[in-house]
Amino acid sequence: MSIAIYPGSFDPVTLGHLDIIKRAALQFDRVIVCVMINAEKKGLFTPAERVEMLRRAVAQLPNVEVDHSPAMLAEYARERGANCVVKGLRAMSDFEKEFQMAMINRKLNPGLETVFLSARQNYTYLSSSIVKELASYQVPLEDFIPREIIPEVQAKMLELKTR
Ligand code: ADP
Repeated sequence: MSIAIYPGSFDPVTLGHLDIIKRAALQFDRVIVCVMINAEKKGLFTPAERVEMLRRAVAQLPNVEVDHSPAMLAEYARERGANCVVKGLRAMSDFEKEFQMAMINRKLNPGLETVFLSARQNYTYLSSSIVKELASYQVPLEDFIPREIIPEVQAKMLELKTR
């Protein structure tokens, strides 16, 4: 069985991420979307909130699972019996860092392959940080994040403003 891991911070999940998840789900028997928890990087949403939003966004995709882990990706992949890591590439600027990570992961776990999917053209500009910035100016979010999570993102922004 081919099992792929799609790791990221997903703070929050965007339509660009969702597009990569859907395309990966067509190529692999099982896709595990994993919120990687980096103790040094504090996001806007807690890991539990990110997982919950991702679960709602992928609810219609039967071979996609959402998880979170504080482990290193190479180790997590070994634990889950995954043979592949999926990454989305938006631009050349993503490439250098992602290529380096792929090399390191292969060194740590020689059985682990990294596959790059190119971002769909209309999502190449999209990132979680842009979404947070737009949300802070109350820009409508329909074109940027899954509909299911819009109220939650808006509520979080309101909560930040009224703090
Ligand atoms: P971000 O850079 O938005 O904070 P993450 O760290 O959560 O994203 O990214 C997880 C993975 O998704 C990475 O491989 C990243 O290159 C990819 N990705 C992020 N945004 C997009 C997008 N708009 N289209 C395709 N891939 C994307």
